[in-house]
Amino acid sequence: MADKFDVIVIGAGPGGYVAAIRAAQMGLKTACVEKWIGKEGKVVHGGTCLNVGCIPSKALLEASHKFVEAKHDFDDLGIQAGDVSMDVKKMMARKDKIVKNLTGGISGLFKANGVTAIEGTGKVASAKQVEVTDQDGKATTYEADSIVVAAGSVPVEIPPTPLQEGLVVDSTGALEFQETPKRLGVIGAGIIGLELGSVWNRLGSEVTVLEAMDNFLPMVDGAVAKETQKLLKKQGLDIKLNARVTGSEVKGEEVVVKYADADGDQEMTFDKLIVCVGRKPYTKGVIADGVGVDTDERGFIHVDDQCRTSVPGVYAIGDCVRGPMLAHKASEEGIMVADIIAGHKAEMNYDAIPNVIYTFPEVAWVGMTEQDAKAAGIEVKVGAFPFAASGRAMANNATEGMARIIADAETDRVLGVHIVGQHAGEMIAQGVIALEFGSSAEDLALTCYAHPTMSEAVHEAALAVEGHAIHMANRKKKK
Ligand code: FAD
Ligand code: AMP
Repeated sequence: MADKFDVIVIGAGPGGYVAAIRAAQMGLKTACVEKWIGKEGKVVHGGTCLNVGCIPSKALLEASHKFVEAKHDFDDLGIQAGDVSMDVKKMMARKDKIVKNLTGGISGLFKANGVTAIEGTGKVASAKQVEVTDQDGKATTYEADSIVVAAGSVPVEIPPTPLQEGLVVDSTGALEFQETPKRLGVIGAGIIGLELGSVWNRLGSEVTVLEAMDNFLPMVDGAVAKETQKLLKKQGLDIKLNARVTGSEVKGEEVVVKYADADGDQEMTFDKLIVCVGRKPYTKGVIADGVGVDTDERGFIHVDDQCRTSVPGVYAIGDCVRGPMLAHKASEEGIMVADIIAGHKAEMNYDAIPNVIYTFPEVAWVGMTEQDAKAAGIEVKVGAFPFAASGRAMANNATEGMARIIADAETDRVLGVHIVGQHAGEMIAQGVIALEFGSSAEDLALTCYAHPTMSEAVHEAALAVEGHAIHMANRKKKK
């Protein structure tokens, strides 16, 4: 038997590493087990988010957006940039450098906070034991008073499109292309599919997105989703809805994809295909048989509102439990669980978790959509403001999109904030704070916003809830 800890965390993604750091800060003797092997053949921390998720995708989105601006938009600003070209390999090398810096940074934070980093594959052997198998197959059992499972998720694969290295890839493979494919197919118009499709569309690929559902971004406010679809189409993304992929065949250097739409069976040929049909929990083998931790048929670990599993002292957080698969949701759960283990009261507001799609413009939302509220029988008032009427948006050359605020018609309480526009991902924090503090639309309307900022659109949308927007003609009758 090896060391004994107060807490052992399995997995060092944004759920696990945050839980481990917080637990150590609370004075608990903490270890974090990680098995991810990075590009240099060594164990790296940071999980999906830092290695193959949030950060590398944003590095490519930022680079490809700047490329588009330089190529197509600079002229409008009077900048003569001449011929602009993209060195894809250099863009990828920059992305890899960012990943290396950040993953190394987590290891540094572990040291600074006194978290013991254990390398290997962890398994909950009993309610108070974690068995870790290292790269050479040697198993060591550690004891812990509390265990946190933060094993994360992996991409879903579907039988019609088996992966083939470099040709038919998942999101991880799509972050590694070393040149721009001419014809790119993307299966799934979810967040990841739209972001990755955007990267390569901006760099010159002809991108077709095949989506089985006939509803575009059903989780987003209807008006915002409609505007987003229009803007992405204008950029050249060919989004085919109601197009279910049924098969694929690799022919030499090409892949032929079969799909069914309203007109029957169809076929398209691509140079690369990205399969982005969702993610699934990565929990197989993480809990030994007989421990008593309940999971569902898809592998999600059952937890209550405070991430307690069916076994006292064993917690689970992040992508391997219910709720949105988002890094900040995993991290907040990590902090909550560490605080609970340390003996503090802690809870999370699952109704105030923001979502962002990092396309251009960005799409960001928190809380209820107008359609959700109506379906729940809540009478709503909606205030909307277009960026086309914002001085800052004009100065920024970014007048597309709008901000919408959904408020309870009776109490004026803000139920949701939905934005499509430049920097929407930054602006949404205002909506999160409004929901967190239970504020009314009037509270936002009475708040002083800096001028000129994109955020003024949120202010104007709040004013518009009562028909009092200043910088546009109000459709509603003023009271
Ligand atoms: P993970 O990050 O998956 O980490 C789990 C860790 O546990 C991994 O390091 C894994 O190796 C380790 N592990 C698993 N089993 C074991 C074991 N038995 N022993 C030891 N270690 C183990 N989210 C956002 O919020 N914003 C975004 O912009 C965003 N963009 C994304 C883009 C892409 C392309 C992808 C794929 C995902 C994106 N996500 C984004 C989702 C985000 O990455 C995840 O929600 C987040 O990483 C989940 O954190 P986690 O800690 O639960 O799991
Ligand atoms: P998300 O779960 O948000 O990452 O989105 C995944 C998307 O992939 C969903 O919108 C699914 O409808 C879509 N999808 C899943 N299977 C298929 C398929 N066979 N063909 C086309 N789209 C699919």
